[in-house]
Amino acid sequence: MASTEHAPSFAHLEFDTPLYRTAVAQFDQAVPYSEITDGVAERLRYPERAIIVSCPVRLDDGRRVVFPGYRVQHSSVLGPTKGGVRYDAHVSLGECAALAVWMTWKCALLRLPYGGAKGGVRCDPRALSQPELERLTRRFTSELLPFIGPQEDIPAPDMATNEQVMAWMMDTYSMQRGHAVPEIVTGKPISIGGSVFRHEATGAGVVMVVARACERLGWRLSEQRCVVQGFGNVGGIAAQELVDRGATVLAVSDVSGGVWDPDGLDVPTMSQYALEHGSLEGWEGGTRVGNEELLELECDVLVLAARENQVHADNAPRLRCRLIAEGANGPTSLEADAILRERGIPILPDILTNAGGVTVSYFEWVQDLGRLFWGRDEIRAKLAEKLNDAFDRVWEIGGEKEIPLRTAALVAGIREVGAALDARGLYP
Ligand code: NAD
Repeated sequence: MASTEHAPSFAHLEFDTPLYRTAVAQFDQAVPYSEITDGVAERLRYPERAIIVSCPVRLDDGRRVVFPGYRVQHSSVLGPTKGGVRYDAHVSLGECAALAVWMTWKCALLRLPYGGAKGGVRCDPRALSQPELERLTRRFTSELLPFIGPQEDIPAPDMATNEQVMAWMMDTYSMQRGHAVPEIVTGKPISIGGSVFRHEATGAGVVMVVARACERLGWRLSEQRCVVQGFGNVGGIAAQELVDRGATVLAVSDVSGGVWDPDGLDVPTMSQYALEHGSLEGWEGGTRVGNEELLELECDVLVLAARENQVHADNAPRLRCRLIAEGANGPTSLEADAILRERGIPILPDILTNAGGVTVSYFEWVQDLGRLFWGRDEIRAKLAEKLNDAFDRVWEIGGEKEIPLRTAALVAGIREVGAALDARGLYP
């Protein structure tokens, strides 16, 4: 049997999950507009490398538990792979593969010299103490040592991982090398080589993209009434940025449910509360709404900043927004995409809308490699320039080919990677 006949069945067996199927189906929708050869398309359908590790961890009560961990590296044609690490009960090889694929298109769309990766540990992070999280992080990093590096693969924070987790990863890697290697991770504390504005970058970037879209649509951002699902790093900062730019945030939600006030929420006080209490549980202002209900509230801009597959065939017909901004990765299912297109509700796609994070991660890595640090205003201005440039290319491709913005964003990313693969050729 020819080797090409082996590839699809192998890949589907190993990675097959709903999210990976979505990533591949989106890719297939974009390929006809991407001007790449069949051989290049076939290569890009699968990750280059996928690693499964087992992480034994001593719990505070003395018990030992083994957690499964993953790292998937999709494409290294443009440079090191780059992507977040998540701690979540749903982490799987297929989920990481889908997210790694999206990271490749995102980096290429933003013209960053990276390919996509993603990893994580399947665990319930809320059930683990800080010392347990530290031991888990250090063990996971040790297991990945042969596969990560500043020129190979550079982790970053994602769901339930933060600056502290990145500091533990950086320290573990550095101890093995015998000197400080800040450029091994991004999203770390400023005291060890993190970048100013990295913490805010994804949420602020979401709002920069929304602002650019408003300009194109002839709307004023300050007049928009917004609903934000997810109140963590991305959603919390996006809500604050919206308020700072004069928009009204009508509702937000987190894993404990949603809060709605038609006159607008006091976002700064709610952020402080969520920081102190771990979530919005117990917050007494506004009206409590369920997460499903929150998505269906009437508003102008719906920001999805929680997790994947939140808008699907069941609720897409009932959404009452005028524009969707995907802060999370993969929050809209394929079926919902089609329904919303039919209903004339544009979607600002994840690989463009949440690219502020990886873009400032890139700035952080460059600063670490050069040991020369930039100021906040410079970083914010450079980020806006990159996002606006990517937005304009996506908007133009969308208009020219008459395709949705998601497909246009994928086309822009796939073209960059395809050109690089063509130029480098197939080894050996
Ligand atoms: P986070 O853990 O800081 O926040 C996630 C938030 O979503 C929390 O408030 C959580 O309570 C809430 N949540 C979880 N399940 C929910 C549900 N079913 N309904 C409503 N809220 C729910 O994570 P984050 O870093 O903000 O990441 C959120 C999304 O953004 C993920 O899809 C992630 O991959 C994506 N993303 C993050 C970054 C980054 O820089 N942090 C960059 C790009 C994309």
